[in-house]
Amino acid sequence: MADYLFPVLPQPAAAIRGSSLLYPVRRMFFVGRNYESHATEMGVKPDKEEPFYFTKTPSAVVASGTAIAYPPGTRNFHYEMELVVALGGPAFQVEQSQALKTVYGYACGLDMTRRDLQSQAREKSRPWDLGKDVEQSAVLSALVPAIEIGHPSRGHIELKVNGEVRQSADISEMINSVPELIAHLSQFYHLDAGDLIYTGTPAGVGAVVTGDLIEGRIEGIGDIRLTIL
Ligand code: MN
Repeated sequence: MADYLFPVLPQPAAAIRGSSLLYPVRRMFFVGRNYESHATEMGVKPDKEEPFYFTKTPSAVVASGTAIAYPPGTRNFHYEMELVVALGGPAFQVEQSQALKTVYGYACGLDMTRRDLQSQAREKSRPWDLGKDVEQSAVLSALVPAIEIGHPSRGHIELKVNGEVRQSADISEMINSVPELIAHLSQFYHLDAGDLIYTGTPAGVGAVVTGDLIEGRIEGIGDIRLTIL
């Protein structure tokens, strides 16, 4: 085995509820505008459209309960509360009817976003990376295995900032469902264990400031916490 030029960073990973094993994170896909209510608040006509995605560097993962620094380069740092799907096996060109068999489990996620930079990029038809692939911006709760909870297609999704409800919806309102997303994304990628899909956020996104406590919850899946330093 060759030695590396500099120390190899730890493998990004998620905790698993009820297990001492960690789930190694390989890739992270994020679905854009997957709730009509959020598409509307972003000024986009809500339509059943083909899903679209952006990605984040796996090292952007931080565990629920973490305190993160307010990131550089933004004056409008937003929360987005999301259901996260964690794949447990290969999925390439899968049918919707077979898609859920490839899911290991589910989690709560926060897709933290430099909204000002994302909006500027969108207006100029440029990539969203500076707005979305923010260091420490992919907050992730412990995974809950599907063998324990099944595959929830409905359940309340909620986010509070400093105890005040800001997002409140149901995951059944997603424009593209979890099986639809896996079937679609697997047309383009050899999805496999370690791949996460953040499935989009409902209405009510907003800015946070230093000192804020963000608390999210999805019925039947769990909760997530983040503090902004
Ligand atoms: Mn999002």
